Amino acid sequence: MKTCIICGSISIKISEAKFPGYIEGTFYEIFCCHDCNSSFIDPDKIDKTIYEKIYSFPDLIRYDRYYKYAMEIRTKKDPLKYLSQIESVYFPVYKNITEKNQKILEVGCSYGYLTYAINQSGNSATGIDISAKAIDFAKQHFGNNYLNISVEEFAAKYDEKYDMIISTEVIEHLENPVLLLEQLKGLLSNNGKIILTTPNKDFASKKFTWLTDSPPVHVTWLSKKSFIKIAAKLGFKIEFTSYKNYYPSEENRLFKYLYAKISKETIHILSKNGKPLIHQVSKSRELLKKIIWTIMYKFMLIRVVSNFFYNVTIEKDITLGIILQKKP
Ligand SMILES: [Zn+2]
Repeated sequence: MKTCIICGSISIKISEAKFPGYIEGTFYEIFCCHDCNSSFIDPDKIDKTIYEKIYSFPDLIRYDRYYKYAMEIRTKKDPLKYLSQIESVYFPVYKNITEKNQKILEVGCSYGYLTYAINQSGNSATGIDISAKAIDFAKQHFGNNYLNISVEEFAAKYDEKYDMIISTEVIEHLENPVLLLEQLKGLLSNNGKIILTTPNKDFASKKFTWLTDSPPVHVTWLSKKSFIKIAAKLGFKIEFTSYKNYYPSEENRLFKYLYAKISKETIHILSKNGKPLIHQVSKSRELLKKIIWTIMYKFMLIRVVSNFFYNVTIEKDITLGIILQKKP
């Protein structure tokens, strides 16, 4: 690696030489760019077969929640609001969908529940994903507005323009984030908006070299500066979602922030044969965790006070919400 995959700077260094990967026994070099504060792995080390492995186990740690949302979403009265209340990833989408009858594309729609929620909000959304398993699920549960196709193939095959393109928690999986945004720009109408979310590198303490899913599942960990550089390069106006008045019903943001300051989960998730590893956690530790979680998340008063305190002191969120528009 000689240059930054985001901004092209030569001011990159290895911030960690042997970071544990998603698969047992694998390790990765983590690079960090001094100019744009992006962290990334060598794109040549990316293993794309990992997704079908992940989708083979719907209850896999950290990905199980997506399956849960997909199973529950049809019982919700206002599905988009429900998603925004449950996880900060969906808040930028909820905040920006203020109109009806818009033509919307969701890129990397996974099980399809967000595309479904957008359609329920009075808009016309199509979801695309490179996982055949995920698209089969989406079609079975939510109808026919889904395609098993990559952005590149989609752009080549269909001559369509969208009022809004949404891509939540996708860009951190891709070897070339700049290319993705260039492709999305080609699918965007002149006044259209791209709404992206990704884990926020600015959120974590500087001592962490990688506080996001282990490589090669996540291959980049990006900051506001990363996106400011990309926007400048591709001719986008850029804004970031403010989380100042975000009061989720299922999260204690203060607790989550403090936890991110102290935890360092550098564990392998899958065995060499692609089966989930069982991580031995003692029963008493598991119980303690459950008690703390219940107190911090389920008691409304504690949650609201914590979130209020968090909003007036820290404000930034573990999710970075990015809004891009074409420059006139
Ligand atoms: Zn850079």
